Order: sequence, then structure tokens, then C-alpha cells
Amino acid sequence: MKLFFLGTSAGTITSERNVSALVLDLIKERNSLWLFDCGEATQHQMLKSKLSLARLEKIFITHLHGDHLFGLPGVLTTRSLMQNMSPLTLYGPKGIKQFVETVISISHSWLTYQLDIIEIDKPMELVNDDQFIVNCDELHHRVPCFGYRIVEKDRSPTLDVEKLKVHRVPIGPHYAALKLGKKVTLDDGREIDGKDYWGEVKKGRKLAILGDTTPCDAAVKLALDVDILVHEATQKHDLQYKANDRGHSTTRQAAEIARKSQAKKLIVTHISPRYQLADNQSIIDECRQVFVNTEIATDFFQIPIE
Ligand SMILES: [Zn+2]
Ligand SMILES: [Zn+2]
Repeated sequence: MKLFFLGTSAGTITSERNVSALVLDLIKERNSLWLFDCGEATQHQMLKSKLSLARLEKIFITHLHGDHLFGLPGVLTTRSLMQNMSPLTLYGPKGIKQFVETVISISHSWLTYQLDIIEIDKPMELVNDDQFIVNCDELHHRVPCFGYRIVEKDRSPTLDVEKLKVHRVPIGPHYAALKLGKKVTLDDGREIDGKDYWGEVKKGRKLAILGDTTPCDAAVKLALDVDILVHEATQKHDLQYKANDRGHSTTRQAAEIARKSQAKKLIVTHISPRYQLADNQSIIDECRQVFVNTEIATDFFQIPIE
């Protein structure tokens, strides 16, 4: 599991940063990629990063401002040019369905795969499968904007083979299900729970990926106890009035959310075009005055989540 930042600029592109997009790479866990926001040229950034559109399983859009959205038509329609596409689910605020359907119909484009669009307008659970739970909650921005909390379920890389032998569980294809912690009915009628046969259990990882926002309680709740919090820090702290007035946070405000939520690590992104890469250190320094374990994202920055 790793995060791969494709675009880290706020509002508009610069020569150094593209607009918002972030991939949660779950190739190892489920052979798929989840994309969070899709600013213009996201498909170019994916191509350069060797991240395959074919592997996209879910796209989460935080809000409908162009710098988070305008790459979507390209990503969705280019994906149609590939063979045997798996279904794709798109989550986003109300209006996203109309946006996608209008673009596709007016441009006479088409999709060759199943696209499910789920519109969100309140805090809700979006995913709950064998591996992950994803919740969303509404942040404070100029338009409806959501943050996402991704919680991996506890897992075990191995089964306790000795215990399985002792309990006379025959070797068979149900081992895969037991490894995932599922319940299985054996040929002799017994129902057993995979979790009872796990070897060493690894705690699931947690992360929060938030959209544009001023500081708010929902941000703290979404980020409670996460391994990684991705939070915008559009301006440095001397421009707090400007940042908050436009629905954004400053460096120190992002760090304050990380501190309050007891996140283990903060990554700030969505950096105003007024700053250059040369300003990165001073941006990090401001965050670290409040929350030490902070990094700043740049385009193509990757970070594994252990
Ligand atoms: Zn933005
Ligand atoms: Zn915005």
C-alpha cells in the first residue's frame, strides 16, 4: 500500500506542480488503484508514473471545483480504449453524474466498461468489503466538499497450519477464504471462521484523504488516529485571512488538525501557485512547529504505508 501524488498545486497548474490527483496504490493488496481527485492532465501524470488506467477500481472526487475534476473525462474515456476493462465506481458530490453524462453525450464518447456513479450528500459509509471500510464526511469549503477515511481491516499474511491440522481441516481451495478471515462450511458440515486460524495478525492501516477545507471538526473526526493524514495547506500562515476567506487552510492549521486527531504523519498538499519548490522547506518548517512528523507532497512523490 502506498500513496502516489500526481498533482499537488492549488487552483491552477504551475511549471512545477500539476493540479490535484492522488493514487492509493493497492496493487499488492487487491491488484487495483484508487484515485482521489482528478485534476486536468491526470491521465498524463498516470502515464508518466506507469500507473495503468486499467487497474483503476474506484475514483473518489472530493468536490466539483475544476482543479479537482477536469481530468475526469480524459481518464474515463481513454480507459475505454483498453481491452476487457473491469467495472469502475466513481464517488463524488451531487452533480458529478450530470457532469460525466453530459461530457460523454455532448462529445459523442462512450464507455466500454461498467461505470457506477455514487453521489454523496451526507456523511456515509461508501465501501465495506473483505478488506476495507471507507467513510466520507462533509468538510467546510465554498461548495460541498468531502473528506475520505480509509480503514483497512486487520489481516494475517499466514494461516496457522498446525492448528488447521489439529482441527482436521482438510487442505483445499477454502484456504484462500480462511486467509481473508471469512467463514467457510466444510464438507463435514462444520462452519469455521478463518480469523480463528490466523497466524500473527497485522493491524489494518488507516488513512484520511481530505479535500479543500478550512479547519473543521469533521476533518479531525475523519483523521482520528490515522497512520497518514493528507491535508491541504494552500497558504503559509501569514496569509491565514486569505486562505480561510476562500475556504482553505494554512500550514499551521493543517498541522493543528493532525495534532488534534493524533495522526501519526501529516502530508500537506494543494500548495498555492504563489510558492515554488524552493519554498518547500519553509512550508514544512511552519507545519513542524505544530506537528513534527510532517512532509510536503510534490508531483510524483511516493510514500509507502507500513
Ligand atoms: Zn482546490
Ligand atoms: Zn476547491
